[in-house]
Amino acid sequence: MNKVTVLPCQFDDCVGYDLQINDHDATVYDFLLALDEFAAENIADCRGCDGCCWERAPLTIGDIPRLATLLPPSPYPCHAVVGAFGTLSIEDGVVDIMLRRREDSSCSFLDREGRFCTSHATRTFVCRSHYCMPKSGRLQDLRGAYVNAGIDELVRQLLAEEAAGAEVWLTGKIDPEDYPANPLTGMDEPMQVRIRDIVEPELWEELLEE
Ligand code: SF4
Ligand code: SF4
Repeated sequence: MNKVTVLPCQFDDCVGYDLQINDHDATVYDFLLALDEFAAENIADCRGCDGCCWERAPLTIGDIPRLATLLPPSPYPCHAVVGAFGTLSIEDGVVDIMLRRREDSSCSFLDREGRFCTSHATRTFVCRSHYCMPKSGRLQDLRGAYVNAGIDELVRQLLAEEAAGAEVWLTGKIDPEDYPANPLTGMDEPMQVRIRDIVEPELWEELLEE
């Protein structure tokens, strides 16, 4: 049995999707594989639809390695990726990092005429885990937990790159203590983080329920 199963579930008036964890060592990457399998069996190809490519899409640390493959090698990969593909803002000491959008709100990776993603293989966790169907509460909560940890770790890494010589975007503007180390810290492939390490115990118990 796969470590994570993503399955259809019935909501009041339509079908959506839910997940179940089958293994205590299941990772976020296992969740994405299960989503890919679910989509291949249950959802038509997105090509020709751009319905969700006009919305806010957070960038997380786990997105950096794949997006960095689109760029020349850099000693500061987080700065390189955010500089090339993201937007960064600070409000009241809180950092927000998103995929860059054009003036018309479309994602900069969207082919607006063909209505397809030009970077499908490197699209972000948020894009990979979203389908235009209702999501169960526990699935939404897991996405939220990973995105929050992933943005926080990206901020930490940006600060570390600045300390090592990268252009200063954040240093002196935010309190580093607001971004302490978390389970993603130091991982070469952050999507390999164990799900149980990034969710609250109550959510973990919920994710194990059949
Ligand atoms: S997931 Fe997004 S792009 Fe794919 S079919 Fe649904 S709205 Fe369109
Ligand atoms: S990265 Fe691709 S899938 Fe994600 S919002 Fe942009 S165009 Fe859409």
